[in-house]
Amino acid sequence: KLQESWERDREQLKRFAAELAVTNRKLEHIALTDMLTELPNRRAGMNALSEIWSNSERANQSMAAMLIDIDYFKKINDTYGHATGDRVLIEIAALIRSNARKGDSFCRMGGEEFLIICHSGCIEMQYTKSHPIKIDENNIEVTISIGIAQKEAGVENPDQLINLADKALYAAKNAGRNKVFLAVENKLINCSNPS
Ligand code: GH3
Ligand code: MG
Ligand code: MG
Repeated sequence: KLQESWERDREQLKRFAAELAVTNRKLEHIALTDMLTELPNRRAGMNALSEIWSNSERANQSMAAMLIDIDYFKKINDTYGHATGDRVLIEIAALIRSNARKGDSFCRMGGEEFLIICHSGCIEMQYTKSHPIKIDENNIEVTISIGIAQKEAGVENPDQLINLADKALYAAKNAGRNKVFLAVENKLINCSNPS
C-alpha cells in the first residue's frame, strides 16, 4: 500500500511539474511581448540587442540599429480616434515584421516607436515614403522617420548605439519628417530620397 501511494504521489508531482513548465513558458512570452502589436516588447528588444552586439564582437562583424518613429501620430489619434490609432500601430508592426531580414530583431520600444536591430552590416540606402493604411473607410497616409546608427570605432556599447540612432532620428524629425538619417563618424547624414 505504501508503495502504491508513493507511486501515486510521484505521478502527481510529475504532472504538476509539467503544468508549471507550461505556465512558465506562457508567462515568459507575456513578459517579453507587446500585447497590442504582438511584437517583442522593449525588454525583449534590449535582450536581443545585447546578444546581437556580443555576436558581432565575437565575429568581428558590423551591426546597426534603426529607430523608427511614426510622424504626427498624435494627429492620427486626434483625427480618427485612439482605436484607429491602435490599428495603425498594428499595421506598422506587421510591416516591420514582414520586412525585417532573416536574423534581424525588432521590437516596439513604446508608444509609436519601433527598433530594428540589424545583425550585420546593413547600411544600404534606405528610403521612406508615405504608406496609405486603409482602416474601415479611411485611407490614412502614414509616414515614418528613421534614425540609423552602426557599430563603428568609438561606439563602445549597445546604449551608445541606441543614443546615436536616437540623435539621427531627432535629426530626421527636424529635417521635416518622412526622412532617414544615418549617424556615422560623428556626422548625421541624410539618406532620404531626394524628392
Ligand atoms: P512626431 O512626428 O514628432 O513624432 O509627432 P507625434 O505626434 O508622432 O509624437 P508625439 O510624441 O507628440 O505623440 C505620440 C502620440 O502617440 C501620443 C500618444 O497618445 C500616442 N500613443 C502612444 N501609445 C499609443 C497607443 O498604444 N495607442 C494609440 N492609439 N496611441 C498611442
Ligand atoms: Mg511620432
Ligand atoms: Mg515618439
